[in-house]
Amino acid sequence: MVDFTLEKSQIELQEKTRDFANRVMKPNARKYDGLAEFPWDIVKQAYSEGLMNGPVAKELGGNGSSIFESALVSEEFGAGCVGIGICLDANTLALTPLLLGASDEQKKRFFGQIIEEKGVAAYALTEPNAGSDVAGIKSQAILKGDKYVLNGHKRFITNGSVSSFITVFALADPNRGARSLTAFVVPTNAPGVKVVADMSKMGQRASVQTEFIFEDVEIPVENRIGAEGQGFLLAMKTFERTRTGVAALSIGNAREAYETAKNWAKNRIQFGAPVTVHQGVSFMLADMATEIEAARLLTWNAAWAYDTKQKTANMLSAMAKLYGSDMGMKVTTDAVQIMAGEGYSTDYLVEKMMRDAKLCQIYEGTNQIQRLVIGKSVLK
Ligand SMILES: Cc1cc2nc3c(=O)[nH]c(=O)nc-3n(C[C@H](O)[C@H](O)[C@H](O)COP(=O)(O)OP(=O)(O)OC[C@H]3O[C@@H](n4cnc5c(N)ncnc54)[C@H](O)[C@@H]3O)c2cc1C
Repeated sequence: MVDFTLEKSQIELQEKTRDFANRVMKPNARKYDGLAEFPWDIVKQAYSEGLMNGPVAKELGGNGSSIFESALVSEEFGAGCVGIGICLDANTLALTPLLLGASDEQKKRFFGQIIEEKGVAAYALTEPNAGSDVAGIKSQAILKGDKYVLNGHKRFITNGSVSSFITVFALADPNRGARSLTAFVVPTNAPGVKVVADMSKMGQRASVQTEFIFEDVEIPVENRIGAEGQGFLLAMKTFERTRTGVAALSIGNAREAYETAKNWAKNRIQFGAPVTVHQGVSFMLADMATEIEAARLLTWNAAWAYDTKQKTANMLSAMAKLYGSDMGMKVTTDAVQIMAGEGYSTDYLVEKMMRDAKLCQIYEGTNQIQRLVIGKSVLK
């Protein structure tokens, strides 16, 4: 018998996060979208309310959340403001290679640091010439004595310039190419870490994306995560865990846009009646509600598959991210369409939700790349 009923602790977590989203995130969504500034006050508040570092083990200062529970949290963050939500979730993205590959001593050291500082970490895979093609990474970290020396160039790194440390992927042996890809924890204030610029962008503007140059950055051996050459697998295994989070952010954003448009339409009188009496509008709302429900079920299934170690977990997380973010783009666009002129204006947040939705189709692997992952799996 399949049971979709949440456990009591999961309902409590969902309600606590929804309350945080309504009370702290939503009222500040427009402000940070306009400022395009990292929302430090909200991050600190999330820390004080126990909503940061969810998947980190309880004994190390986190909540020990499963991927399913993390998806519940991310949906509420998405409903609050995807731009602010990604600041919180990108921290989890950066910590995931450590959750998967770090020693107990490293987990204690790095999770301890981030929690002590009430800070955020960043995840640095992408380079100017290596976006979808991760195997094209050129950054190098070469062992010299008891230190690696890092040189390279990364871009689009979420939380980059405001982070305490960066989980950087670089080649330990350029002759072996991507087979030598290795993950390192690099303090953002280490000599040789240079911020080129933060990105100016269309949506999710509360979050910061940084371009970095690394010039002879010395990394102690004890900051290497896993063995040399495990980086590619760690990067892919990270996405297997975190893509359900992107799907959930998209669902929360779409849910909020749908609710806004539905409530608006019920009160908008044209031709002597609320516009919801027209099938052109009510069918759109019916499709939106159906698609949000379908995306949530797919995401919950993907998260369950991960938590219960099903072989289908990687394919399902790619499906959840693909369907969830495509659905998010469509539903937020339809919300603007239903609200027409008012939807397009900045008097409502649906125009922001539409801008925010687009990015979920791009980061953590574009939706073309999700189709490659799914295609490989179904054709195996
Ligand atoms: C706001 C933002 C935040 C980000 N945050 C991070 C972060 O925190 N850390 C990080 O490391 N990276 C981050 N990224 C990078 C992001 O993951 C990449 O932008 C994404 O993987 C695509 O790479 P690209 O932009 O270089 O596009 P490209 O790889 O150049 O792709 C261009 C187009 O070609 C398509 N394409 C490429 N290869 C194929 C293929 N084999 N089959 C079919 N289509 C293909 C793509 O889908 C896309 O449409 C972020 C990006 C943005 C915009």
